[in-house]
Amino acid sequence: MPTSPDPRIADYFERVRQALREMGIPDSLATERRQSLQFEGDDLISIGVDQLGREQRLERRAAAAWCAMRAAAGEEGVELFAASAYRSFDYQRQIIARKLAAGQALEQILTVSALPGFSEHHTGRAIDIGTPGSPPITAAFEVTPAYAWLLHSAANFGFRMSYPRGNPHGVVFEPWHWLFDASSKACCAAVNADGIE
Ligand SMILES: [Zn+2]
Repeated sequence: MPTSPDPRIADYFERVRQALREMGIPDSLATERRQSLQFEGDDLISIGVDQLGREQRLERRAAAAWCAMRAAAGEEGVELFAASAYRSFDYQRQIIARKLAAGQALEQILTVSALPGFSEHHTGRAIDIGTPGSPPITAAFEVTPAYAWLLHSAANFGFRMSYPRGNPHGVVFEPWHWLFDASSKACCAAVNADGIE
C-alpha cells in the first residue's frame, strides 16, 4: 500500500495494516484483487431501520439520493428497502474475523466479503438493496421487479452496481449492491429536484 503525507490517511493505513496483520492476512492481497482502500464516511445520517430493526445510515448526499430513488420506485409500484448501508471498519473487521474463526477459507470469504478497510460500505455511499418477497442479499434478487427497475433507473439517481458478473475483483455477482457516485450529474439533478439537499 502507498504511504501518504496526510496524517489521517496514514493513520488509517496503519489501522488497516495492523488489522490484517493480526488476522494473518498479507496486505498485498487487496492489491492483487484490485480493491481500493475505502475511507469511513464522516457525514452519516439515518435512513431508517432495516427489516431487523437496526438503524441504517448513509452519507448525507447518498441518503438524499437513496430517498429520492426509493420514492420514485414506489410511485411505479416497486418497493425497495435498505438491507445494509454504512458499515464501519471495525464492524467489517469483526465480520472477517468471525468467518476465519469459524474455519472458512480466506479465498472463499473474499468472494463475498471485502477485507476491512476495503469495503465500499465504509464510505456510507454503498447500499445493499432488498425488496419484499425476496431473501435479502442473495442471488434471488436478480429475478425481482426491483432489480429490473434498478437496472433501468438507478443511474438516474447516481447509483451504479459495483459487482456485475465477471467483475475484476473476484467478487461474486451482487445484483443487490449499489454505489452512489457523488460526481454523477444525474444524481444531483434528482436530489435537487426533490429539494432534499
Ligand atoms: Zn454490499
